[in-house]
This record gives sequence, C-alpha cells and structure tokens, in this order.
Amino acid sequence: MTTTQQLLIAGGGIGGLAAAFAAAHAGWEVRLFERAQEFSEVGAGIQIGPNVTRILRAWGLEQELAAAAACPNRLQVRDAISGAELGVLPLGQRALNRYGAPYATIHRADLHRMLSRALARLPNVHLNLGCGLIEYADDGKAVTLTTGSGKQIEGDALVGADGLWSRVRTLMLGDGPPQPTGHLAYRGMLRQSALPDALRTTQVTAWLGPRLHVVQYPVRGGDWMNVVAIVHGQPPDNAQDWDHSANAHDLEIALGAMCTPLRDLLAAVPQASVNVHAWRLWALAGRPPVGNEREMARGRVALLGDAAHPMPPYLAQGGGMAIEDAAELGHALAMDSVDVETRLRRYALARWQRVARVQARAVRNGQIFHATGLVRAGRDVSIRLLGERVLDVPWLYSGT
Ligand SMILES: Cc1cc2nc3c(=O)[nH]c(=O)nc-3n(C[C@H](O)[C@H](O)[C@H](O)COP(=O)(O)OP(=O)(O)OC[C@H]3O[C@@H](n4cnc5c(N)ncnc54)[C@H](O)[C@@H]3O)c2cc1C
Repeated sequence: MTTTQQLLIAGGGIGGLAAAFAAAHAGWEVRLFERAQEFSEVGAGIQIGPNVTRILRAWGLEQELAAAAACPNRLQVRDAISGAELGVLPLGQRALNRYGAPYATIHRADLHRMLSRALARLPNVHLNLGCGLIEYADDGKAVTLTTGSGKQIEGDALVGADGLWSRVRTLMLGDGPPQPTGHLAYRGMLRQSALPDALRTTQVTAWLGPRLHVVQYPVRGGDWMNVVAIVHGQPPDNAQDWDHSANAHDLEIALGAMCTPLRDLLAAVPQASVNVHAWRLWALAGRPPVGNEREMARGRVALLGDAAHPMPPYLAQGGGMAIEDAAELGHALAMDSVDVETRLRRYALARWQRVARVQARAVRNGQIFHATGLVRAGRDVSIRLLGERVLDVPWLYSGT
C-alpha cells in the first residue's frame, strides 16, 4: 500500500489555490497556509486569455467562469491624446475559433471564490488562515514548515505561492527583494449602471499615451467595469504594502493631456466607484526573467506564480502564468514512478522558459505602450497597418 504524499503550500492567492486544486487532483493531501486572517482579494479585475480559460475548463470550472466573467467582443487600441483608433483585435467568437477557449475578464475576488469553492469540495485539501510561513527546512527526506506562531508541519514537498515578496523565495534563492519599476498602477472598479451610456463598455480598450496607458474592461458579466491607469512615478515609502488609497488629483497630474472620452471616463471613477477611496494605488516592482530551472525548484521546494516570476501587467498574464504553473505542477506531482525532487524538477523544467518569455514580453510591451517621440510614431503606424497581426499573441494563447 502506498501512503498519500503531503504537499505544503505557502500562500492562498490565485496561484496557491490553483496549486492546491491541481495537487489534490493529482492524489496528494494538501495543507495550505495563508498569512492573512481571511481570504480577501482586492477589488480589481484581471484579464484571462484562452491559455488560462482552457485550463479552468479542463478543471470543470467552465460554468462558474461563464457565470462570473465577461467575454469582451474585442480589444480596441486608442491614442490617449487624440482618441483615434489605432487598431482592433477581435476577441469573442474569434478567440473561441482560433484558440478553442474564450478570452475572459473577471473580478479577482470572483476568480478566487471560484477556486475556493472548488477546493471546499475536495476532502484532501486543508486551508489554514492566519498562518504565515516564517521558515522551512528541507533535509532531503521531508520538508518542515514553521509558522509565525512557532508551529511546525512536515510534508513531502513545499510550494512557495506567497507572491511578489515571497519569504520562500528569500529562503530558497536569497536573491534580494524585487526592484521598483518606476511605474504606478491606479485601479478603479465602477458600476456600469451608474455611468452615462457613452462611458459603458463591452470591450477591452487600451489607451496609449506617452509614458502612460489606461486599460478598461467589463467584469461581473458586464455589470462592473475595471479601469487601470499606469503612469511613471516614485513608489510610496511602504512599497510592500501594495494597496494604497490613491488620490485622483495625483493621477490627473501624472496623466497630463488626454482626449475628452478618456478624461470623462477617469473623472467618472469617484462617482461610480464601489469604494470610498475610488482609486487604489499599486507601486509596481519586478525581477529579471527566470534564468534556469533551479530558480523555480530546488530539492523538495518549488516556487509558483509571482513568487517565481513576477511580471509587470502589460501582457495581462501574471495570474494566468500562476494558473498555468499550477496545472503543470499537478502533472508533475502525479508522476508516481519518480521521486519528489525529480517531480518538482520536471515542473520547473517544463515551466521556466515559457514564463521567462512571458516576463520579457511583458516588459517589452510596457516600453512599447509608453513610448514617446519617433518610437511612438512607429508603433502607431505598425498597429494601424498590421492590426491584429501585432495585437494577437498566438504562441501565448495557444501554448502552455
Ligand atoms: C495593476 C495590475 C494588473 C494586473 N492585471 C492582470 C491581468 O489582467 N491578468 C493576469 O493574469 N494578471 C494580472 N496581474 C497580475 C496578477 O494579479 C498576479 O500575477 C497574481 O495575483 C499572482 O498571484 P499569486 O497567487 O502568485 O500571488 P498573490 O496574489 O500575491 O498571493 C500571494 C498570497 O500569499 C500570501 N502570503 C504572503 N506571504 C506569505 C507567507 N509568508 N506565508 C503564507 N502566506 C503568505 C499573501 O497574503 C497572498 O494571499 C495584474 C497585476 C497588477 C498589479
């Protein structure tokens, strides 16, 4: 008789929950430790491409996804100053036809809730809230996690899904904290019914301006709209405390000249917003792309999601890569014929080049989105001439 293997997971964000789901389906007993006292995803949206919705469908979450998400009909790219359309990428049916899965936009809390509910149906998953990982020790035969209260838990493997400022990464790689990118993200969540018709949307719109861009898209079946404005600026002192109340006036100054429709949209945020503070501010920080598989797994410990490969949001794939990681981790953990270290190494080997490519592409997109002068003019001409050929990313949406 074989004994059930025990997986410890530090972190209960989208990546940690997805990893718990995949590992439990691979036959492992899962103990997840989340530092926060309760699960509370911030009020913001995320886009999830066909590469990610395909996995959620395979996990049997298609109906929940359809109920919670919106499926925008297209991505439209516009100039933030003149308002002119630069290009369009049809999504909707085209994404289904081309990639076999939808392009969706969803509130982070809805995605998190979908995953938590799926975990609640699995008897081999145990969630521990208010239990942060402080230390771990890997002696080659087992891994022992120590929580903030001094409790020690032993398992066969540990996954660090503890986000951008990962403690597991610090202990495993010791490569210092992530570095500020000099970009600030302001996010707002608006009730569409509180907006005039002209400001409501069923599509993803990316407004590109010099040293800035703004993205808007529907969430919650279209009832709400997520707006993200990214500008250049200094991070607040406490950058780790990533969700700050933010001031609309600071944002307006940072954005500078804008066309009327974009100005009207941003001005509507305080009135139609779900919370008192309206704009929330994130100071973006990152790391260079993953350089080899040993940056994602060593011995009985593996990293996943932002802990492994943080990336700026310019390709809208950070959460998506965490879900892809989880799916691959599930495949690797199911390889009963090889030892635990080999399974984690195979996970890392299968993932590191793809996530490094996505990280690099996200950084490059940021440079293109925020371009000034001649580069900006060249970008606009190529989007106008080539349209969906430059806006689509087939290697990303069709692969894993
Ligand atoms: C402005 C912006 C827009 C974005 N847009 C998109 C998008 O459109 N599409 C997309 O796919 N991604 C997007 N992302 C990226 C996405 O939000 C992240 O990549 C994703 O949330 C990472 O998930 P994670 O589970 O790895 O980390 P996190 O969500 O950070 O979760 C980590 C969890 O670990 C917990 N934790 C931390 N330390 C410990 C510890 N020591 N012990 C136990 N628990 C711990 C934390 O409390 C947290 O719950 C965006 C990001 C930003 C900032």
